[in-house]
Order: sequence, then C-alpha cells, then structure tokens
Amino acid sequence: MLFCDLLAVGFIVFATVTAPGPIRSDWFRFAMLAICATVHLQLSRRQEERRRSRKHTVQIDLVGIWSFAGVVVLPIHLALLAIILSRTQRWFVARRPLYRFTFSTSSVLLAAVATHQTVTSFGANDWSRLDVGQSFTALGVLLLGGLVYFASQAAVIGAGAILLSTTRPTLRSVLGTREDNELEVVTIALGTVAAILLVNVPAALVIMVAVGVIANRIAEVRQLQEDVRTDPKTGLLNMRGWREVAEREMNRANRDEQPCALLMVDLDHFKNINDTWGHPAGDDVLEYVAHALRSATRPSDVIGRFGGEEFVLLLPDADSTEAEAAGERIRQTISELHVPTTDKRGGPVAISERTTSIGVAVYPEHASALDQLLQAADAAVYEAKEGGRNQVRLATL
Ligand code: GH3
Ligand code: MG
Ligand code: MG
Repeated sequence: MLFCDLLAVGFIVFATVTAPGPIRSDWFRFAMLAICATVHLQLSRRQEERRRSRKHTVQIDLVGIWSFAGVVVLPIHLALLAIILSRTQRWFVARRPLYRFTFSTSSVLLAAVATHQTVTSFGANDWSRLDVGQSFTALGVLLLGGLVYFASQAAVIGAGAILLSTTRPTLRSVLGTREDNELEVVTIALGTVAAILLVNVPAALVIMVAVGVIANRIAEVRQLQEDVRTDPKTGLLNMRGWREVAEREMNRANRDEQPCALLMVDLDHFKNINDTWGHPAGDDVLEYVAHALRSATRPSDVIGRFGGEEFVLLLPDADSTEAEAAGERIRQTISELHVPTTDKRGGPVAISERTTSIGVAVYPEHASALDQLLQAADAAVYEAKEGGRNQVRLATL
C-alpha cells in the first residue's frame, strides 16, 4: 500500500514538473469543477455517511464524476489538485482508517494520471468546435479514457483487496460486486458528460450536480434492496433472500425432473462459546463458519443463515449420496477452522475443533415442497444431535 502511495506521490511530482502551466480558461474550469464537487459532496453527505457505515468496502464514490471530468479537461496538475481537494472534504465522512483512505485516494490519483496520459496522447481536447465525424473520434477517445480509468482503479483496488484480506480473498472481494462496478460505470459516464458540458455549456453543469445527487439516492436504494436479502453478520442470504432463490431452484428442479438437496447445519454447543468467551467471539465464529460454507460448496449452491447458529443450504442437482458427501465435507471444513478472536476481557484466544450436526433432505425423495423439505432436514438435525452430535444424518422417509 505504501508503495502505491509513494507511486502516486511520484507521479504527482513528475506531472507537475513536466506539464505546461495552466492558462486562464484552465483556472476557470478548475474553479467550476471544485464548486460542483463541493456542492455535490455537501448535498449527498448524509447518504454517503449511511452508505459508508453500512458497508466495509466502499471504494466507489459518485463525486468521482467531477474528478473524471477534470482528468480529461484540465492540465494534469490541476486535475490532481481537484481530486485532492474533494478527497480532503470526503475525509470528514469517510469513516475509514487513515491508511485505507490514503490508499484509495492514491488509487484514484494513479488512475487519473493513466487516464490523462491516454486522453491527451490522442490529441487536443477542444470539443467546442467539432463536426459530426470528429465527434465520433472524440467519443472514442473519451470511452477509451473511461476504460483506462475504470481498469486502473480496479487493478489497484483489486491488488489492495488481496493484500488487505485477512482470510482468503474471494473473486467478489477482488473484483467488487456488480452494484459497485455499475456505480463506477455510471460515475465515469456522467463524468464524460460533465467534461463535454464544461467545455461547451459550463452553466449546464448545474444539471449534472442535480443528477449526481439523485444518483447518490438511487445508489442508496439499491443498497437497501441488497440489505433486505442479506444477513449483516455473515454476509450470507437471510431467510427472505434464501427462500426467494431456493423456491426458484426448486421450481427448476421440478421442471427439469432433477433432484435437489437441502442441508440444515447446526453448530454444536454454540452457547458454550458465548458463555466461555463472550458474544463477540461467538460472532467471529459465525463469520468464519459462513466463509467455510462458501468454500466447501459450489458457487451455484444457495447458502443462507436460518437463524442464530443454524444455516441452510440448497444444493441444485444433488441426490442423497452427493448431498451427504457435501454435508460431510462441510462438517470436516468447520472442524478444521481456526478462529482467532477475543475472550471476555478482550485478550486474544483461538477457537478451534468445533463440531457440527447436519441434517440432509432431498427432493423429491423426502418432500415435494420447500417447507416440508426444511422440516425433514430439521428433523434430521435432531436425529444427529440425539445420535451424539458431530455427524451428518439423512432424513428418514
Ligand atoms: P446444540 O449443540 O444443542 O445445538 O447446542 P447450542 O448451544 O448450539 O444450541 P442452543 O440452541 O442451546 O443455543 C444457541 C445459541 O446461539 C444461543 C444464542 O445465544 C446463540 N446465538 C444465536 N444467535 C447468535 C448470534 O448472532 N451471535 C452470537 N454470538 N450468539 C448467537
Ligand atoms: Mg440451534
Ligand atoms: Mg447449536
């Protein structure tokens, strides 16, 4: 990370020394962008605060609209200065440790330099007098610039995610969610329009500020839609989200005349963890178990948190043999977990060798509807508990 920060500093110095001095119109455009970014930042402050306290990995910032416009229109030192100005204001709602905030700022600055180089190497950015043919070339250059901006940030952030990850980084943590990426595309697209307006109709930027603020609100609604289906503690689906996907999978199984299996996973003597080391330790174990469930299953398997320390999985296309094998794999993976956490006084402890009881029920063998399948798997869990825990049980017919 420090390397990335230093690289950014290096580029800033280099760009400032080698770039031609700004002319009057550059200063005017710089001021316009700085004002727009500030108004946008202030008007979306509350949303951004909420969004950031909900999510751990926000990297995308719609205020990047103005950064991107600056990068393609301004000389590089002014563009970088504009980014630093808006990032400084953002710091007050960032809710991130300084080193992370600096890192994401560096990633934006590096992307800015790369994008500026790309766009300027294709010639002048005077879009005020373009005929139709030239406007196509200009569009191509802008799209290419957007691609470079997107890809270089993704590369730096992806590398950062790998370095920062305490556990094994997932594809999602490296590439970001679909929502994050779509938001980034919107940011760049609006940034492109803002750049064109800045050159041709600067006063119309006021429209872009309004669009930016509304885009922030839409982003929050999308986030809320996601939250409704997600269990915040583990990041798995909650029952609402799980049911939705599981019903769909069962319908598909029915249509294709394929089996599908339901696994109910209940951690053994979980209450002891809370009683011995405290509830935060219990929560850490739940997080690790969620990760273990993901790593021991296929991406197409539907994993949810049923309740406290119970999890449900729907395995499409799995018959009873495959489902029992999957249950055994899950039991094994959880037993090998080594969870670093804290005791009641906050001192470090490691929790390991946890056992699990798993009930398996299969469609259409045990039941034909989701609720009955859940019941059958739940009954099998109790059989496993009665049988001495730490085992996988197939539902009885
Ligand atoms: P068994 O082997 O029979 O399953 O015993 P158990 O202790 O796992 O089951 P029991 O149902 O007696 O207790 C479940 C415990 O899970 C009680 C509750 O405090 C704890 N629990 C439920 N949700 C959470 C949570 O989100 N965080 C923490 N830390 N504990 C939770
Ligand atoms: Mg339980
Ligand atoms: Mg339990």
